[in-house]
Amino acid sequence: MTLQQQVELQRRGLMFVLSSPSGAGKTTLSRRLLERYKSAGAHETIVMSISVTTRKPRPGEIDGKDYFFLEEKQYTDMVDKGELLEYARVFEHHYGTPAKFVQDHISEGTDVLFDIDWQGTRQLFALTKDVVSVFILPPSMEELCRRLRARAQDKEEVIAKRMLKASAEISHWQEYDYVLINQDLDQTLEKIDSILRAERLKRVRQQGLPKFVQGL
Ligand code: 5GP
Repeated sequence: MTLQQQVELQRRGLMFVLSSPSGAGKTTLSRRLLERYKSAGAHETIVMSISVTTRKPRPGEIDGKDYFFLEEKQYTDMVDKGELLEYARVFEHHYGTPAKFVQDHISEGTDVLFDIDWQGTRQLFALTKDVVSVFILPPSMEELCRRLRARAQDKEEVIAKRMLKASAEISHWQEYDYVLINQDLDQTLEKIDSILRAERLKRVRQQGLPKFVQGL
């Protein structure tokens, strides 16, 4: 292990948020980022926060992997008990981030990746400075529509609704630390990875540094 890695072992994890309108490539990018770090050491690992939602699963979605699919009552119970770190209504449904999973990983120095909207991102920023946010833009609205169609998991009227909501989501781009145009998936992934690596090296995050420097 290098000296840098030893120092990095003593850092708090960061909350790495990827937001975008549906269809801009965020899910694929998240999956590929996680794959990169799957076999990495403790100080490099990043895990996905799995949200709860009251929407029904789409074909192929698995409970406990893509989301925890809840009934309204189960969701409101979690809100009432303060078990969600952030929560919001997006489209017609409720979404939220279970707090315990995130807090446990952050405190042991593991980064957590979030696929949440601007409302949730705002709430995280209000909670802590450990947040880094990235907004992914589609290259054009035509391309976004094409991607939503190609996915064909949603009905035509749902796609039309999502195109409307996409503009609303995009209007919040200025609230994010980083903004990327996802024209090429590989290149965007490289950029996201660079952001993650640089943010991990920020002085304030390297809690082992003072001790290291003192011992020089
Ligand atoms: P979908 O229904 O397509 O999976 O997600 C719809 C939107 O909800 C996406 O923009 C996604 O980022 C957002 N979302 C998913 N989980 C959460 C969550 O836990 N909190 C918030 N605030 N938004 C979420």
